[in-house]
Amino acid sequence: MPERASLVARIPGRGDGPSLLLLSHTDVVLADPAEWSVPPFAGEVRDGEIWGRGALDMKGQVAANAVAIASLAREGFQPSGDLIFAATADEEVGDGFGLSWLCEQHPDAVRCDYAVNEGAGDRLELGAKVVYLCATAEKMTAPFRILVHGRSGHASMPAIADNALVKAARLIERLAEYRPEPQLQQEVEAFLRAVLGEVPSPGSAVERARALHPTAAELIEPLLSPTFASTMISASRKRNVIPALCEVDVDCRLLPGQHPHLVEPLVRAVLGGDVDYELEWLEAQGGTRSALDTPLWQAVDSFVEQSEPGARAVPICCSGFTDSHWLREAFGTVAYGFFPARTLPADVAAQLIHSADERVPVDDLELGLDWLRHAARTVCG
Ligand SMILES: [Zn+2]
Repeated sequence: MPERASLVARIPGRGDGPSLLLLSHTDVVLADPAEWSVPPFAGEVRDGEIWGRGALDMKGQVAANAVAIASLAREGFQPSGDLIFAATADEEVGDGFGLSWLCEQHPDAVRCDYAVNEGAGDRLELGAKVVYLCATAEKMTAPFRILVHGRSGHASMPAIADNALVKAARLIERLAEYRPEPQLQQEVEAFLRAVLGEVPSPGSAVERARALHPTAAELIEPLLSPTFASTMISASRKRNVIPALCEVDVDCRLLPGQHPHLVEPLVRAVLGGDVDYELEWLEAQGGTRSALDTPLWQAVDSFVEQSEPGARAVPICCSGFTDSHWLREAFGTVAYGFFPARTLPADVAAQLIHSADERVPVDDLELGLDWLRHAARTVCG
């Protein structure tokens, strides 16, 4: 697609040291000018902030990546392995014009040992602790459909039919009430160790985190087990016809390492054997992780320590999907989502992303730039 170009540039490595990719996507979600205080694509600077669609997600990081590699090149930096810049055309929609396409069609352009991507960098004050989140893993998106069977009939005589919609309601309730056994995976363990000083039992993790700060509990709760949320339903298209079929779509997110075929028996046990249904997995995407004891982690850690003494970097598993997945899957890349921000509070940033009046403080862009240059020098210096 000529109008959906991706740009890849590199400073070739002087030897066969590790390569580092600074990854970003250039596409943004829509913006309705009527909702904005400034024209959404003007990039106005006001009171030390750059306003515009994509300021946070993620043209800010695109720009910082470009300045990082360009400034290093100008200074004559010679990395031990390739230092690579990739700004890709498609992430928000997932039409296959972005990194997944590059990994498939031009693997040599984007193959790398390490990668820095979007996904985290939030600064949080949790009780007395200041932490910066670094996304090292992500859950798998594995939605499924439940097809509930009954027998149609005229709605004026319900007794002669077998209403699939009513039967589906039972299954929806069972799924909603289900509380899977919590487990602590490595990201949550490391997070808890950093903020609590110890790792509590899986059953008490959320309460212990909540006692420190409600945000800590919110962060880890979806990371202790798969989640199941029934979100869509369809049955009869006529009010006076009792449906013979009812379809329920369930948004399901699995922990890294879990797969649909392992979880299906569990789901079936929850749904029970008294209702006639079929279960169909719709897709299974993501669910990869990178190790935590790596040179890139040391770079994140040392950067946080230098830029804010007393603060700590902590790993987190994203509950959503990022492009880091494609690199981990194709090349076994150690890919982290980390672009630190300390001026714009994390909760404000979360509200602005994909919303009106998206903006980023110039100070945070400078912090991000410092981080990227630090990463390049530390990982491939
Ligand atoms: Zn993004």
